Amino acid sequence: MSDIRDDVVAGFEEIYGYAPAGSWSAPGRVNLIGEHTDYNLGFVLPFAINRRTIVALGLREDRVMRVASEFADEVVEIPLGELTPERLHGWAAYPLGVAWALSQFGADLAAVPGVDLYIESTVPVGAGLSSSAAIESAVAIALSDVWRLSFDAPTLAKVGQLAENKAVGAPTGIMDQSASLLGRRDHAVFLDCRSLESSLVPLGFDEAGLEILVIDTGVSHSHATGGYAARRASCERGAAALGVASLREVSVDDLPRARETLDDETFRRVRHIVTENQRVLDTVIALRETGPHAIGELLDASHVSMRDDFEISVPELDLAVETAQLNGAIGARMTGGGFGGAAIALVPRENISRVQVAIDGAFAEHGFAQPGMFTVTPSEGATRD
Ligand code: ADP
Ligand code: MG
Repeated sequence: MSDIRDDVVAGFEEIYGYAPAGSWSAPGRVNLIGEHTDYNLGFVLPFAINRRTIVALGLREDRVMRVASEFADEVVEIPLGELTPERLHGWAAYPLGVAWALSQFGADLAAVPGVDLYIESTVPVGAGLSSSAAIESAVAIALSDVWRLSFDAPTLAKVGQLAENKAVGAPTGIMDQSASLLGRRDHAVFLDCRSLESSLVPLGFDEAGLEILVIDTGVSHSHATGGYAARRASCERGAAALGVASLREVSVDDLPRARETLDDETFRRVRHIVTENQRVLDTVIALRETGPHAIGELLDASHVSMRDDFEISVPELDLAVETAQLNGAIGARMTGGGFGGAAIALVPRENISRVQVAIDGAFAEHGFAQPGMFTVTPSEGATRD
C-alpha cells in the first residue's frame, strides 16, 4: 500500500506542481452471494478486496475542481458552481459526479474550497470487481473529509450511487459502494437493500486455509445492458402479478402459488430472486455458526439458479465454475450482473494452482480466450491513508 501511495503523491506533484494535502483510498469488491437481489430490495453479501483506488487531493484557493487519473491523458476542470450531471462525460463523470452528488445530500458547494485530484488504482476495470464503486468511494471519503462534511459511510454510499445513476447514467444498486465503504478485513458486509441496515459477517477464509479465486472470463456481451434491464423488468412484472411491492416480500413458501399465477419464464426469474435471498440468509448463518467450509453448496446452488432460472450465465462462466468444482473448489459461482464478466471459486489453498491449470486447459480445449485469474482477500473499506 505504501508504495502505491508514494506513487500517487509523486504523480500528483508532477501534474499539479505542489504537494497534496493527503491521500484516501477505497477498495473494489467481490459479491460472495446475492445476485440481482439488490434492486429487488433483498439481501447481498459482498466483501471489500485487497485492490484499491487511491486519490491524492490538494486544496485550491479558488472554486475550481480538477481531476486527473493515471488511467486518462487529460486533466478535466470545472468550476464547482457549474457542476451538473449534464455537463459531465466519460471517466471524469465518476469523480466530478461524486462532488455534484454530495451537493444533493446537503453539501454547500458555494462554501467549500476548490480541489485538485489525482487518481491511481489497482482495481482492474470491467473485471466485475467494481472499479466504479472504488473510485466513487475514494473520492467521496476524500471530499467529505476535506470539505468537513462528516457524512457517515452509509450516506457516502448513497452519494456514490447517485453519482453513478445520474452523472454516469448507470442504473445500479447500492451494494458496490456499501462494500467499498463499510468492508472490514476478513469480513463480508451483509446488507439489507430495503432498510439499508448492514452488519459485518466474519469470513474466516484465511484461518480455514481457503482462498477466493476470481476467474475473469474477459467476455463482455453487447446485450449485457439490455439483458440487465430485461431482468429488472421481469422482476417488476412478477412482483406486480403477485400483488407485492417488491420480490423481497415473496418467500420460498410462496413459490407454489407463484408457479400457478405466473408464466413459466417470469416464474423462473422470480424463483431465482426468492431462492437467492434465502441463500444469502443461509450463508450468513453458516458463516456465523459453522464456518466457511459450510457455504460451498450454497455458492454452487446460486450458480445453477443464475444459469437455469435467471439465464444470465454464458458458456465461459459455466466452464470456469464446473472446472473449479471438479478440481477441488468447495464452491463456485458466476458473480456480477451476468452475460460475461467473472466467476469466483472458494478453494483450499493447496488446490489453487490445480484449479488454475485446469481452467486454463479447459478454456484452451474449448477454444475460449485465456481468462485472467487471481486471488483476492477480504480487506478494509475506504480510509484516509
Ligand atoms: P467495473 O465493473 O470495473 O465497475 P464499470 O464500467 O462500472 O466497470 O466502471 C468502469 C469505469 O469507471 C471506467 O471505464 C472509468 O470510466 C471509471 N474508472 C474506474 N476506475 C478508474 C480510475 N482509476 N481512473 C479513472 N476512471 C476510472
Ligand atoms: Mg461498475
